[in-house]
Amino acid sequence: MSDASQVYDVAVIGGGPAGLTAAIALAEAGARTALLARRVPYADNRTTALLGASVDVLDRLGVWPRCRDAAAALRTMRLVDDTDRLIRAPEVRFSSGEIGLDQFGYNIDNRSLIAALEQRATEISGLTRFDDEAGTIGPEDATVAIRTRQGDLLSARLVIGADGRQSLCREAAGIAVKRRELGQSALTFNIAHARPHQNISTEFHTTQGPCVFVPLPGNRCSVVWVSATGEAERLMALSDDHLSEAAEKQSHSILGRVQVEPGRHLFPLSIEQPRQFAKHRIALVGESAHVLPPIGAQGLNMGLRDAADIADIVAKAMSLGEDPGAPQVLARYQSARRADVLSRMLAIDLANRSLLSDFLPVQALRAAGLHLIGAIGPLRRLVMREGLAPSWRRASWILKETPVARSGSTTSRW
Ligand SMILES: Cc1cc2nc3c(=O)[nH]c(=O)nc-3n(C[C@H](O)[C@H](O)[C@H](O)COP(=O)(O)OP(=O)(O)OC[C@H]3O[C@@H](n4cnc5c(N)ncnc54)[C@H](O)[C@@H]3O)c2cc1C
Repeated sequence: MSDASQVYDVAVIGGGPAGLTAAIALAEAGARTALLARRVPYADNRTTALLGASVDVLDRLGVWPRCRDAAAALRTMRLVDDTDRLIRAPEVRFSSGEIGLDQFGYNIDNRSLIAALEQRATEISGLTRFDDEAGTIGPEDATVAIRTRQGDLLSARLVIGADGRQSLCREAAGIAVKRRELGQSALTFNIAHARPHQNISTEFHTTQGPCVFVPLPGNRCSVVWVSATGEAERLMALSDDHLSEAAEKQSHSILGRVQVEPGRHLFPLSIEQPRQFAKHRIALVGESAHVLPPIGAQGLNMGLRDAADIADIVAKAMSLGEDPGAPQVLARYQSARRADVLSRMLAIDLANRSLLSDFLPVQALRAAGLHLIGAIGPLRRLVMREGLAPSWRRASWILKETPVARSGSTTSRW
């Protein structure tokens, strides 16, 4: 039952994967939590490559057992230079076994992930769901006042802005955002194919962006095909047969005959970076806090780390009798997220720019970098570990947890 009259410790605005995870984690951590999110069917066919501790976070929250059957393990990642440039990079292959893991993570369709999160959210007594949207959000001295679109009023000491790219929470906090349109779009669709994928994710680097074939259960893959927006629109408009042919050609037939499945979506790409992650009793998680092109599968993995961190920080603050929306608590969140988010945004922006650049020295530098990564074991292993999570976080996992990636089950915190 929704109770709008009480003051919640935390109100989470937005029921995408980052918001649902944050709401479950906060309620599980003991905060009286309101979740303000419309119950609507998930609208696109995106999948998420969940890397490193993301699966452990979901497992610990009781979400992963409900959706793991819909996921495929990712054991090898191949990067293939598919440009016809003068200077081409050698193929680089990352294998999870090389860093002692059974897999880097799992690829799952967002629909199954959201369904599992939604189901888990209904079971937690400290979590109150409002099937509605925030209409206005007003930070005040001791609380934040929220008026829903249907006219309910509620208040909370801390608001989690998980309301995506056009974040009302971010606006209410007065946080400015830097936005750059990339002139590229990602076309997403799923395929069935004749040959097994062997749990190998293959990324073809073209002069317009990467085209990635990511394993799903069975002889199926999800495809994220990034190209200049005009080309992406052309691909989007192809018939199923012609898109199947184009995908098979782009994959160099490594998966044999390809048949696209119904449903495709186009995502114009941008980079969006807010100036702060928290202000005026409002903390941002997920895409309200960072938008990246889908390179290296970092977006939601960072969103899950946002959710895990804010839950951890709020739980510790409340155990010390602190107000969860107090400036010092928000400052802890800001400092926990800053380096992780900014370093990944920079790395992905550089990787994308170096792929698109027509400047020969940049192409040479990129090829040399990939050559070194391919040739030098310790460097390759460092890149693999950094791709899963920042090094300072991995140090804390070693102390705190048994990753699912290593053991198949987990017993502890993120
Ligand atoms: C093509 C593509 C492929 C990707 N692949 C990967 C990948 O492999 N791995 C990975 O980690 N990431 C990936 N990402 C990124 C990932 O999809 C996003 O990071 C993630 O979906 C963002 O989730 P979110 O919950 O922050 O935002 P959203 O999913 O946008 O959710 C925001 C929610 O807030 C709701 N909302 C908005 N305003 C209000 C309001 N006023 N009141 C209440 N609710 C509101 C919206 O309706 C929505 O439900 C990919 C992205 C793209 C485009």
